[in-house]
Amino acid sequence: MIDTNALATAGRGEGFDRVTIQRRDVGPRDVLIDIAYCGICHSDISYVENKTGRTLFPLVPGHEIAGVVSAVGSEVTRFAPGDHAGVGCLVETCGVCRNCRSGYEQHCSGRRVGTYSSRDAEGRATQGGYSEKIVVDERFVVQIPKNLKLQNAAPLLCAGITTYSPLTRWGAGPDKRVGILGFGGLGHVAVQISRAFGARTTVFDLDPAKRDDAFRLGAADFVAEPDSETLTLLAGSLDLIICTVPANLNLDAYLGLLDLGGTFVILGLPSKELTVDALSLIINQRALAGSRIGNLAETQGMLNFCAEHGVAAEVEVIGADDIDEAYERLKAGQVRFRFALDVSTIARASTAASTTSSALIR
Ligand SMILES: [Zn+2]
Ligand SMILES: [Zn+2]
Repeated sequence: MIDTNALATAGRGEGFDRVTIQRRDVGPRDVLIDIAYCGICHSDISYVENKTGRTLFPLVPGHEIAGVVSAVGSEVTRFAPGDHAGVGCLVETCGVCRNCRSGYEQHCSGRRVGTYSSRDAEGRATQGGYSEKIVVDERFVVQIPKNLKLQNAAPLLCAGITTYSPLTRWGAGPDKRVGILGFGGLGHVAVQISRAFGARTTVFDLDPAKRDDAFRLGAADFVAEPDSETLTLLAGSLDLIICTVPANLNLDAYLGLLDLGGTFVILGLPSKELTVDALSLIINQRALAGSRIGNLAETQGMLNFCAEHGVAAEVEVIGADDIDEAYERLKAGQVRFRFALDVSTIARASTAASTTSSALIR
């Protein structure tokens, strides 16, 4: 086993403390990554707060992992020490179910192991990227091109692929008009990718102060505080809408923005059920869809695309002792666009009075 420092929370509302956790030894197909940065995603907060009731505590969150390969197993072919590598939301899938076999491993219906708060093959709880090292099967590791800075690449492993995948699937391109709802962690990356695909991109956000950043990152239009009158004026003006906000918005009003054959894609999970008037779909033959991260090949394609087109997440780098405050700020929407944890600061972070490390494996 490999000892590594990590930031863990012992339970809901407990805050983070430095602990020592153990990663498995590097197996023949494994890659050992020295983590440099880990993005802080809204999903991390959702698990820390045990919103679904399924969190395995003590928990080390983090699935926007970027670092440097320090060792590889004997059968690893795609990585060598010194490579820049990333890990996103998945560390294992069954590989044999219908979805896995057709290249949709993110929708694996068999044993789908998340980067944290899942059970691995040995039944141990997986622990995420708020830690110095991680050991992952090479099938779930991607190369980070070296012209992307690791702190700016880390959030791409979740926020990047979550928006890149639907933008490609629904054909964002030069002749398409794309709307991005929400200009935060996901939205600010989505705008850059959509623009890089050549689509005319409109950003919708409640906060008018985000206008300059939206234009700077490639928006052609910015709609602040969209009200029903504005949305009516813009009826039929878009081909694709990517909704990054987990809000209970007026779906019919936004569906009305779609032109013939347009699609509205939901990425965020609202707290209540969404309702839709069937007429909003029947008119203009519109579709309502969902999307969940992306597969590993797409994730590699996304990173290569971002490196080629200068797309990157804008981050505020924080140290380990800032993490509890960062969570509060993220919940209040007070982050310019993503926090990235500088993992090198974990070793000098404060420890819990009673360490929980003995309960943490892997
Ligand atoms: Zn995430
Ligand atoms: Zn599967």
